[in-house]
Amino acid sequence: MTARYLREEHHIFRDAFRKFLEKEAYPHYTEWEKRGIIPRSFWAKMGENGFLCPWVDEKYGGLNADFAYSVVINEELEKVGSSLIGIGLHNDIVTPYIASYGTEEQKQKWLPKCVSGEIITAIAMTEPGAGSDLANISTTAVKDGDYYIVNGQKTFITNGIHADLIVVACKTDPQAKPPHRGISLLVVERDTPGFTRGRKLEKVGLHAQDTAELFFQDAKVPAYNLLGEEGKGFYYLMEKLQQERLVVAIAAQTAAEVMFSLTKQYVKQRSAFGKRVSEFQTVQFRLAEMATEIALGRTFVDRVIEEHMAGKQIVTEVSMAKWWITEMAKRVAAEAMQLHGGYGYMEEYEIARRYRDIPVSAIYAGTNEMMKTIIARQLDL
Ligand SMILES: Cc1cc2nc3c(=O)[nH]c(=O)nc-3n(C[C@H](O)[C@H](O)[C@H](O)COP(=O)(O)OP(=O)(O)OC[C@H]3O[C@@H](n4cnc5c(N)ncnc54)[C@H](O)[C@@H]3O)c2cc1C
Repeated sequence: MTARYLREEHHIFRDAFRKFLEKEAYPHYTEWEKRGIIPRSFWAKMGENGFLCPWVDEKYGGLNADFAYSVVINEELEKVGSSLIGIGLHNDIVTPYIASYGTEEQKQKWLPKCVSGEIITAIAMTEPGAGSDLANISTTAVKDGDYYIVNGQKTFITNGIHADLIVVACKTDPQAKPPHRGISLLVVERDTPGFTRGRKLEKVGLHAQDTAELFFQDAKVPAYNLLGEEGKGFYYLMEKLQQERLVVAIAAQTAAEVMFSLTKQYVKQRSAFGKRVSEFQTVQFRLAEMATEIALGRTFVDRVIEEHMAGKQIVTEVSMAKWWITEMAKRVAAEAMQLHGGYGYMEEYEIARRYRDIPVSAIYAGTNEMMKTIIARQLDL
């Protein structure tokens, strides 16, 4: 069943994008995982072919495409491998901050380069001492003439090594009460004096995803680089987290579908006790359970995508999709590996990396515990 938000042109676009990935991504992905990074040359090719931020207004070099194109891009990237999530983050999570809150001058300066791939973006909220508790970040930005002087540290930042432009959450008013009213968003550019990158972090999974620490020591950021208004950063973040979490749910749903298909192929060709493994009723039941959960996830995420495209405020539904689908994908990963037997534990089988990659989807973009906190708030308890 095709989702209602997908029209003929989205299917044509999907075919074209898949062909592009078959040439430019699938053959290189294992090498990227070994090298621990997606090369910038791939980003540039994505840009040249119109696959970066296609939703951006034509005036700034985009295609004015609707969110269904983003869904297609995120799904097809996930089918190659979860480490490509950094591209979805650039396309649908960070660049929208500039489009929504940037001044005309900022948009003209940065958006065309986000579309072409000359600029890779990142968003830096998390710090060593504050992740879920975002209001308690301690990075400060003190106004000094035409500059903000930024001090602090960020960690776990996706695209942190490649990033040319980073939207950094900092306290412009550390005394504000409640504390979230003191948060502002500053755009820190690549060569900002006092800004340095730490090591590329070694992770359990997502080996090719670029994740890094960032340091700001009296970093001199032009006051011009403030995004929107001072003290409104927390509200901007809350507004944009709906799409961020939806992108994570879409990726996890796609990962579950991929893992199911890998497992189905495997059990159909593997034999034991004179039969194909797929002929054992216990195996069939487990696949039936997985198929059911995956179908439930797909139905729900498609509904949420439709509502998001209709401009509805669906923070609760997105939180439901994010926690349930990522947990479902974790269950599918564990079953899928088990049904591959010993081969599932071997690196040459794709399920091994899929199993490693999926758990973080329940952690980033807000942990699943935080998703449940948001849902519970709406339950009038
Ligand atoms: C691969 C990767 C990429 C990431 N990319 C980015 C990025 O690009 N930008 C960025 O800013 N951040 C990024 N993050 C950070 C991520 O968003 C945080 O790790 C996440 O929000 C959790 O924060 P924390 O790690 O500080 O955990 P903590 O907040 O310390 O939480 C620890 C545990 O306590 C639980 N907990 C905390 N508070 C509560 C509560 N009130 N009720 C119940 N349970 C609670 C949490 O759910 C969790 O299980 C990334 C992380 C990873 C691993």
